[in-house]
Amino acid sequence: MALLETHGLTAFYGDFQALFGVDLTLEEGETVAVIGANGAGKSTLLRSISGLLRNAPGQIRYENAGIGALSAPDVVRLGIAMVPEGRKLFPSLSVEENLLIGKYGRSGSGAWTLDAIYDLFPVLKERRSSPGTALSGGQQQMVAIGRALMSNPRVLLCDEISLGLAPVVVKDIYAAFPRIRANGASIVIIEQDIGQALKVADRFYCMMEGRVTLSGKPGAVSREEIHAAYFGAH
Ligand code: ATP
Repeated sequence: MALLETHGLTAFYGDFQALFGVDLTLEEGETVAVIGANGAGKSTLLRSISGLLRNAPGQIRYENAGIGALSAPDVVRLGIAMVPEGRKLFPSLSVEENLLIGKYGRSGSGAWTLDAIYDLFPVLKERRSSPGTALSGGQQQMVAIGRALMSNPRVLLCDEISLGLAPVVVKDIYAAFPRIRANGASIVIIEQDIGQALKVADRFYCMMEGRVTLSGKPGAVSREEIHAAYFGAH
C-alpha cells in the first residue's frame, strides 16, 4: 500500500479544469519529483494534496484513508506539510518565530526540534533574531523548509524550492534532503529544473496540460522521451 496516492485526481478553479485524472503514488521513504512546464498543473496537484484546494475525498488517499476533502490544517495534522512556492514567510516575524509557527501544525512528537533545524541549516541559528525577509533567498528557503519540518511530517511537499536561487545555493539546500529522509519523511518535489529533479528523485512524473504524460525512474527513460512528455510532440 502506498503512503500517499492520487486516483483520477481532478481539480477546478471555478469552471476552469486544471487537472484531468492524475494518478500518482508515493511509497514510504521515496522521493518523487513532478516536472513540467509553466501551467502544467504541478502546483495545483500539490495544492490539492495539501488541502488548499478541495477535491473529491477518494481521489487522494493517505495511509489508505480518503483525504481529498479535508482542510489544510487537518492535512498538516495528519502529517503532510508543504513548502509553498515563493516561501511565504511572515515578514514581521524573526527567523525563529517563523520556524516555531510550524510547530503548531501537528500534534505528536518527532525528531524535528528547533535545535535539529539549526543543526541542519546552521546559518539560521546565526540569523535567528533577524526578520525572515532580511535573509537571502536561499536562507529564506531554508526557513520555509525548516518551518514545514517543525510539524514532523511524514510527507513533505516542496513547490519549486530552487526557483530564483544560484546553483551553489540549490546544492546546499538539496544536501539537506538525505537527513530529512532519514528522519522519516517521504518527499514530493516540484521542479522546473529537470536535471536537478532527476538527480534527487527515485521516480518522477512529467505533467502537461493537467495530465501525467510520462512517469518512471530517472535512469530508465531517455532525454527524448522526457522532452516529448514535457513539451509535447511537435
Ligand atoms: P507554474 O510552474 O507556473 O507554477 P504549474 O505547473 O504549477 O505552473 P499550475 O499553477 O498548477 O501550474 O496551473 C495549472 C493551470 O491552472 C494553469 O492553466 C493556470 O493558469 C491555472 N490556474 C492556476 N491557479 C489558478 C487560479 N487561482 N485561478 C484560475 N486558474 C488558475
